[in-house]
Amino acid sequence: MVSVTVLGSSGGIGQPLSLLLKLDPQVSSLRLYDLKLSHGNATDLSHIDTNSSAAGFNTAEIALALKGSQLVIIPAGIPRKPGMSRDDLFKINAKIIKSLTVQIAEHAPDARILVISNPVNSLVPIVYETLQSVGKFQPGKVMGITTLDIIRSHTFLVDILGRTAYSVDKLKDAVTVVGGHSGETIIPIFTDQKYYRRLRDTRTYESYVHRVQFGGDEVVKAKDGSGSATLSMAWAGYSFAKKLLNSLHLNTAGDQHPIPTFVYLPGLPGGKELQKKLNTSVEFFSAPVKLEKGIVVAVEHDWVDKLNEDEKKLIAKCLPILENNIKKGLSFSKDTKL
Ligand code: ADP
Repeated sequence: MVSVTVLGSSGGIGQPLSLLLKLDPQVSSLRLYDLKLSHGNATDLSHIDTNSSAAGFNTAEIALALKGSQLVIIPAGIPRKPGMSRDDLFKINAKIIKSLTVQIAEHAPDARILVISNPVNSLVPIVYETLQSVGKFQPGKVMGITTLDIIRSHTFLVDILGRTAYSVDKLKDAVTVVGGHSGETIIPIFTDQKYYRRLRDTRTYESYVHRVQFGGDEVVKAKDGSGSATLSMAWAGYSFAKKLLNSLHLNTAGDQHPIPTFVYLPGLPGGKELQKKLNTSVEFFSAPVKLEKGIVVAVEHDWVDKLNEDEKKLIAKCLPILENNIKKGLSFSKDTKL
């Protein structure tokens, strides 16, 4: 059984994410932390008849929210507004993430950390730098959540192929997403080339790639000024957390199917090989990983050998952007004293 802390639990993502975690039989203790409403939401959730406990913590209680937690999930921050790119959010969310990481380093240094707050491409490097500076960074335990891009890549493929002929489940092995978690750094890659050829033949490939890369904008526009993806993001965050919980709970006998997440490559088995195959010094990248006991134990790189020419071009475009996003995070983190 696992103790889970949600930092930023009262937001648009945090609330449905907390509900999903309360329903999970592998969670024993759910701790909700936010600047507001954490006690209220915890009391609300605590009436649900599942086996986990739910407790709320305010800013004066962050140490208690974290102590003994095995999994810390962070959706805290401010949401993206229309006309705001993920990078615009950077300065505000960067400071929030840095200060929360300082608390994690002190009160839950062994926890797995899942970063949902955006921009993931820059915030994960901040978590890395902050932990590294106090000698607490464990490469297998810091993950940026890119699962929403993967979920969109499945859904949007079904949208093109037709819901009557194709179930989403059937297409889950057809395509995945690597790279980063913002615009052109998001790269759908076809693990089943049959579907790639189908999109090429029907001239839908380019619009498909664009929709996967900028799917978040559809939600921002449709919500008309009141926020970005929250419900689908909560589901995505939970789906990844569920994979992690399974691997933690079932040890190595769990689901071995690799799932992409944004990690620090040089610190992980397979990471340097991936950098070499991609011919890049970029240190953070979302690639399929293997999880054991809730920890990333290997980064997959075989997929690079199977890339088609379009995907190679997308990667070439992604890498310099990603490199800048990472640099931005690292220099912010080094230069910012809290
Ligand atoms: P989103 O749609 O991304 O969930 P919201 O603004 O709805 O965005 O939610 C973000 C949540 O993060 C809010 O509940 C906010 O109070 C919370 N938050 C902001 N800063 C912090 C912080 N430093 N610590 C904890 N929670 C925070």
